[in-house]
Amino acid sequence: MRLILLGPPGAGKGTQAKILVEAYGIPHLSTGDILRSAIAAKTPMGLAAKEVMDRGDLVSDDIVNGIVSERLDAEDAKAGFILDGFPRTIAQAEALDQMLAEKGMALDGVIEITADPDVLVGRIVNRAKESGVARGDDNEEVLRKRLAVYREQTAPLVDYYRQQGLVKTVDGMQPIEEVTAAIRRAVHN
Ligand code: AMP
Repeated sequence: MRLILLGPPGAGKGTQAKILVEAYGIPHLSTGDILRSAIAAKTPMGLAAKEVMDRGDLVSDDIVNGIVSERLDAEDAKAGFILDGFPRTIAQAEALDQMLAEKGMALDGVIEITADPDVLVGRIVNRAKESGVARGDDNEEVLRKRLAVYREQTAPLVDYYRQQGLVKTVDGMQPIEEVTAAIRRAVHN
């Protein structure tokens, strides 16, 4: 199973990915998580990405394309994967198409998780409070920036993948279990 979870920050992509990973036994591939690990490890890539992430902008396509290409070559990704937070631009989606073709892989589906932007702000501010984990980009001002970046650069991917007949849309405003059930139905249709 090779899936992309697409949706604005706070829509529940990470939460759903973790549940689906258990259900399908395939890895969760989150470019945001990989970048945060690089920041924590103070690698050159992490140091370069931190400032960009803290202001809510996108890290360069070259950096994230490299991360994903390398990650897709790992043994555990042979059985499939759930991509969360990648691709985020049309250029990344085109690079992914090329990578997958070169690796002899194809996507099974792109799950678009929809959400009301007004609800997202509250959700993310809560996530920051409850997790107690300092995530430099989980404050309201940066979140509004991330939502604008999503609208401008990532939302066009829905049409990109719709043209490939891959998009299944799920209402992300439902309770977590119902979103999971809707994704599982969409995947098996
Ligand atoms: P996320 O955890 O997916 O919300 O990502 C957090 C931040 O990491 C984003 O706001 C970006 O700065 C950066 N990031 C994660 N994935 C990507 C990507 N595919 N392209 C560019 N930047 C990314």
